[in-house]
Amino acid sequence: MTGLIGLISATAAGAAARDRLAAAWPDRTRVYDGPVRDAVRRAFGECEQLVCFLATGAVVRLVAPLLGGKASDPGVVCVDEGGRFAVSLVGGHAGGANELAREVGEVLGAEPVVTTATDAVGVPGLDTLGLPVEGDVAGVTRALLDGEPVALEAEVPWPLPALPVTDGRDEAEEGASGDEGDYVIRLTDRAVEPAEREVVLRPPSLVVGVGASKGAPVDEVLGLVEGALRDAGLSVRSVAEVATVDAKAGEPGIVGAAERLGVPVVTYTAEELAEVTVPNPSDAPLAAVGTPSVAEAAALVRGGELLVPKRKSERADGRPAMATCAVVRRPARGRLAVVGLGPGARDLLTPRARAELRRAAVLVGLDQYVDQIRDLLRPGTRVLQSGLGAEEERARTAVAEARRGQAVALIGSGDAGVYAMASPALAEASDDIDVVGVPGVTAALAAGAILGAPLGHDHVSISLSDLHTPWEVIERRVRAAAEADLVVTFYNPRSRGRDWQLPKALAILAGHREPTTPVGVVRNASRADESSRLTDLESLDLATVDMMTVVTVGNTATREIAGRMVTPRGYRWQERDR
Ligand code: SAH
Repeated sequence: MTGLIGLISATAAGAAARDRLAAAWPDRTRVYDGPVRDAVRRAFGECEQLVCFLATGAVVRLVAPLLGGKASDPGVVCVDEGGRFAVSLVGGHAGGANELAREVGEVLGAEPVVTTATDAVGVPGLDTLGLPVEGDVAGVTRALLDGEPVALEAEVPWPLPALPVTDGRDEAEEGASGDEGDYVIRLTDRAVEPAEREVVLRPPSLVVGVGASKGAPVDEVLGLVEGALRDAGLSVRSVAEVATVDAKAGEPGIVGAAERLGVPVVTYTAEELAEVTVPNPSDAPLAAVGTPSVAEAAALVRGGELLVPKRKSERADGRPAMATCAVVRRPARGRLAVVGLGPGARDLLTPRARAELRRAAVLVGLDQYVDQIRDLLRPGTRVLQSGLGAEEERARTAVAEARRGQAVALIGSGDAGVYAMASPALAEASDDIDVVGVPGVTAALAAGAILGAPLGHDHVSISLSDLHTPWEVIERRVRAAAEADLVVTFYNPRSRGRDWQLPKALAILAGHREPTTPVGVVRNASRADESSRLTDLESLDLATVDMMTVVTVGNTATREIAGRMVTPRGYRWQERDR
């Protein structure tokens, strides 16, 4: 929510809390002074959200006569006189009051109170999916919450978050029929009216290609597009974009029609369009803009299924048509989130990672990591877990699910891009899926914070696992790090079957550093059984190192200071600073 937030208070305590919020968010807030009835009325009309430092009862009476409807009312949050609670009162979803209550709670140290049922049990509100929604939202939501059977009829694959819907296959196996009592969530771009007990979600799955001669009127273009959709039985609410050739990017008829449809205009070069194979090429656009097809080619250039071949506008005055259009259903575009879970502790899992876990319908990961976050998943999330060593298979599975149009989260500990799943997954993926990366706190950083400040100057991470990398390569890198006087963090330092690599690597470093160079050993950083010790190159006890451990070796300037490992930022920097 970026809109203005109106602040209203009545008492001295309320005003004090109000001022703290105003100071924290100077650009987002406006204080409404004067008699509260009048202040609330003005703020209600001018702001996207309200925070009232008043009793809920008082606010209910004040806003009741002003309420218009869920979609248009501002979100209203109440903070009690004691500043203990931030209550989302009105507009929890559409008005953003639930989110605002959480934010206000954070600033004021108050407990957010959210009572909309979908948030309380982890079911995403059907009106919060970012898709146009029609039909019996209240009825279907209640059925989801009550655990009644709700069928998902996805006519178009689309990356929805997990919904606790009845699995179609199970139903078939049990011999149950879709009797009329069942609730349905229908995901479709067809122009169907929602039936009783049905919600229709509109995926942005249609691309409308448009060509127009100079000066084509907006109404002619819009009429053509709407007519084409209507005749093909398609919903105008599923149109994602209007596509055309670069030369027409500023054509007022096209720009105006897209505006009225509420979608962007996307353009392509004539060369790109000329390469698309289309059913109805012609000479006119070839001469005018350099491609034998504009409407069909622009709609098809990113692939998909041609639902409406090129058609021309009809003019009442009988003059030649000035616009053409074609409609394509674009291929499913799944979503792969590659999510780092951090080193272990729940509070080192980022809010963004948490949001992505709840955004996913399919979760792919190593079983022990899945266990770490299972409680955060939405009910209905499909979990595909596997054991150690199945990395490639996990990567392939995650990408294949995304290609099917699913919303997938692929998880890894620490950062998912550091010796983890991101690279094998992205090596598999092509540009037909969206990929979102969420960084995580990697082991070297978690360990560094425990040890002190070992990474204060140039540093490197080296994995000692020779499973996928020949030892000669690893040794060459250790040697280079030794010569370059880099601080080194060893990942995968030692396992039961792999015990000679770490002493070998340490010996190489010892060739360039004092025997007293500090070495930090951190095991299970941020987990329940965390342990750490600070030692040095000559006294490191190998028995303290296993696969749950990282080992950080200082450079020639690293010192132990008050039991902490400190690598100076460089002598010159310190002198200049003095
Ligand atoms: N993606 C992970 C690293 C995977 S490689 C990350 O970014 O942290 C696995 C190695 O990471 C382990 O052998 C160990 O050396 C290190 N490691 C991962 N988590 C750790 C933790 N909590 N404490 C100490 N070392 C850890």
